[in-house]
Amino acid sequence: MFFKRFMTMVALCGGILVAGCNDGQSSKNNNIAEQTSLQPIVIQGALPVESERMAAKLDKVTVETIGGWTFWKGTYNGYPMIISKTRMGMSNSAAATAIAIQKYQPIAIINQGTSGGHDPELNVFDIVLGKYTTNIGAFRTPQQPIGGGSDALTWHEAFDVLPEDESDPEPIAIRKFEGDQALLVAAYKAKVNYTKGRVVEGTIGSADVWNNELDRIKFFHNTYGTSVEEMEAASVAQIAHQFNVPFLGIRILSNNITNNGAYDPATGEACQDYVLDVAEQYMKAKSESK
Ligand code: SAH
Repeated sequence: MFFKRFMTMVALCGGILVAGCNDGQSSKNNNIAEQTSLQPIVIQGALPVESERMAAKLDKVTVETIGGWTFWKGTYNGYPMIISKTRMGMSNSAAATAIAIQKYQPIAIINQGTSGGHDPELNVFDIVLGKYTTNIGAFRTPQQPIGGGSDALTWHEAFDVLPEDESDPEPIAIRKFEGDQALLVAAYKAKVNYTKGRVVEGTIGSADVWNNELDRIKFFHNTYGTSVEEMEAASVAQIAHQFNVPFLGIRILSNNITNNGAYDPATGEACQDYVLDVAEQYMKAKSESK
């Protein structure tokens, strides 16, 4: 089959001119050369159910373990990709991000996975593209004397852990990290293939907290504009920002207690399939613009 095709090509191009012949086959070869000359994109998932499906879909995979963090390095449809299992929470995801940036010099980072809805309009299986990602676990609390109690609904001062002005020891501001525009464009291109729910832009809130108090969730939704909560994306956004690496958080709702949306474990896999598509679209656009 291949031989027959080759002979046809030789005949068409006049043998010696094969290298310069601009037929479909040789331009495809050029594309593959371009694809592999790109730096890899890193896609993170906290848990095995949020990362292993993507890892299994890579070609030419090698597994690297650094500290307690696993990285699968390979290609997806010819594009270099690294799947990173960050483990749960802000510290784990920050460390995995810093290691990935130093070791692999990625072209971009996507943090993806499951999340809990803060917006009653969103349903389980809907996907939120993090136009903004913000830390919802950093505060300066009001002062209360011994016996004065503690009420998280009175914590109105967000603490910016990465202030512009480093001389300010108590920077009070809601800090939002913007999702990268080119990654958002890729996410919109992939949107047409996602049929299990809606894909919308929104704000992802992150903390080492699982909030189950509806008044508190409402507070975050109203004051931070959160669409969903989870435990990693803002930490990754912060580290990526410090290294100037393009970043986007992409989160599927696996649960939403604001509208009785029961937890569905199949969401983790659905999000991975969508995000691989996003990453491919991004890499394709990057290789075409090179
Ligand atoms: N398998 C369950 C529980 C996951 S454990 C589920 O997906 O809902 C916690 C992990 O899931 C964290 O890494 C966090 O990013 C994410 N997560 C999912 N829903 C969350 C919620 N309501 N609040 C906080 N984190 C949530």
